[in-house]
Amino acid sequence: MANIGELLAHGRTFSFEFFPPRNDDGERQLEQTLRDLESLNPSFVSVTYGAGGSTRDRTHELVVSIPNFTSMFAMAHLTCAAHTRDELAGIVTRYRDAGVENILALGGDPPKDANLPEGELKYAVQLVELVQDIGSFSVGVAAHPEGHPRSPDLTHDRDHLAEKLRIADFAITQFFFSVEDYLSLVDDLSARGVSKPVIPGIMPVTNVKQIERFAQMSGAEFPVELSKRLYEVGDDQDAVSRIGVEVATELCEKLLENGAPGLHFYTLNRSTATREIYLNLGLTG
Ligand code: FAD
Repeated sequence: MANIGELLAHGRTFSFEFFPPRNDDGERQLEQTLRDLESLNPSFVSVTYGAGGSTRDRTHELVVSIPNFTSMFAMAHLTCAAHTRDELAGIVTRYRDAGVENILALGGDPPKDANLPEGELKYAVQLVELVQDIGSFSVGVAAHPEGHPRSPDLTHDRDHLAEKLRIADFAITQFFFSVEDYLSLVDDLSARGVSKPVIPGIMPVTNVKQIERFAQMSGAEFPVELSKRLYEVGDDQDAVSRIGVEVATELCEKLLENGAPGLHFYTLNRSTATREIYLNLGLTG
């Protein structure tokens, strides 16, 4: 079965996210990571889309080729930002014709001074509609447990998330560190009458500076206690990774205990942290 909505209807999904490599070294690294993680038997994997369409062909090629050289299938991410409606329709049609069944429909991050011409797509919800018009895809959307940074407030963001999830099949969240943030997102959706599966996105900390940068960009709060623990071990990379895996394992355990419909790991094209968490959780594939 390669339809994520249907998989979720039958039980929990465990999935891994990758980005299209930029050069030959990156390609070799990703190939190794795919081989390492394949043995964990994930429900699906996903491939990101570069801001402004910078990975248009590379995302397509990777999504289409993964089932050819592994036993896994891939969902394609796609963003509205920097594409015309016609370009988006062309990209989605190409996926449909290649047999791809799952798309994560995203707003993306347009350049600050971008001027959107009349009739073009601004929000993910519009891309969900376009994708559904073109084929019988299973469509996912992004959710932001702590609110999206461009939203004036959390209620505004939750209202728009509910609006898009009402027509999509499932959501995957931005990374977060507190199980309460995830549970309040699910509660807020339920209060709006939306009970579609929301898969928590898990980002194991392997590099303090990098996670601080990601957290700042995405609006996720990087807990002071965790930051202190990580700075105490300083440049000891192994110790940072150990703490990152321990913290992510605890978070995953709590999420699963509280009924999360799956886990989606942001792998950053590396396998070690994800594999260790997976094994800690007893999900041996
Ligand atoms: P939207 O749902 O369009 O929301 C964007 C903002 O607009 C929010 O503040 C929302 O509240 C508001 N809004 C929505 N609808 C309306 C409306 N009708 N009227 C007024 N306001 C509205 N980025 C990439 O470039 N490539 C990727 O591959 C990628 N993958 C991602 C995967 C996941 C799981 C997640 C969580 C994020 C990913 N992102 C990716 C980042 C994402 O593109 C950004 O977070 C982006 O800023 C918002 O995308 P969205 O789909 O949430 O947008």
